[in-house]
Amino acid sequence: MAYQHIYGPVNSRRLGKSLGVDLLGAKICSFNCVYCERGRTDQLTVERKEYVPTEELTAELSSFLADRPELNYISFSGCGEPLLHKQFGQISAYLQENFPQYKQALLTNSSLITAEILTELKNLDLIVPSLDAVSESTFKKINRPYKNIKIEQIIENLAKAKQELAAEMWLEIFLLPGINDHQEELELFKKAVKTIKPDKIQLNSLARPGAEKWLEKMSRSRLEEIADFLGAKVEIVADY
Ligand code: SF4
Repeated sequence: MAYQHIYGPVNSRRLGKSLGVDLLGAKICSFNCVYCERGRTDQLTVERKEYVPTEELTAELSSFLADRPELNYISFSGCGEPLLHKQFGQISAYLQENFPQYKQALLTNSSLITAEILTELKNLDLIVPSLDAVSESTFKKINRPYKNIKIEQIIENLAKAKQELAAEMWLEIFLLPGINDHQEELELFKKAVKTIKPDKIQLNSLARPGAEKWLEKMSRSRLEEIADFLGAKVEIVADY
């Protein structure tokens, strides 16, 4: 079978051997992050739709997993924001029902984790949500979100998700010098982390060119300073 919606397995430092699932097939996202490795967002939206046919997805997963490959995770990531796929919960439930031996991970920009969709996330073992800003002005600068998304609401939603879901949560903060590393923002990050209570905080920075070419990568020593400032449970995951 030729696979269009799944890729890998890839060996990732964070997730180990992981089979990627792309639920969108194009650069469709609720953010247009300056650092996005996939370039600028073609479709900036919060509309949840069946961007890729669910039946095709489950058929591919079924075919690939029939041989019982060794995997650490099946990870929902891909070209844009995975939760934009309206049948996310159905696909995750399909995996749980038919291949319960595999752990499921979701890499998300956090914008769609609202109270209404928490039940769709109940089969996940791991959620890796991004939080690159806490102030509204920095949020707009780095993530360039769809117009009605508010960072304050995202933080509240993440805290609720952490409380209500069984999945582990590793909060990813992508840091860029001069954009989201000023002291005021760092103080706000510290406060947000206390509210969300993730199991881990992972600091990342640019590994490949982003959507905008003028960005700089944060030095390892600066990331270490920020890790110390943010406190326990923080690790650096950026490549050097
Ligand atoms: S949320 Fe992820 S996929 Fe969307 S623009 Fe940002 S980095 Fe790219």
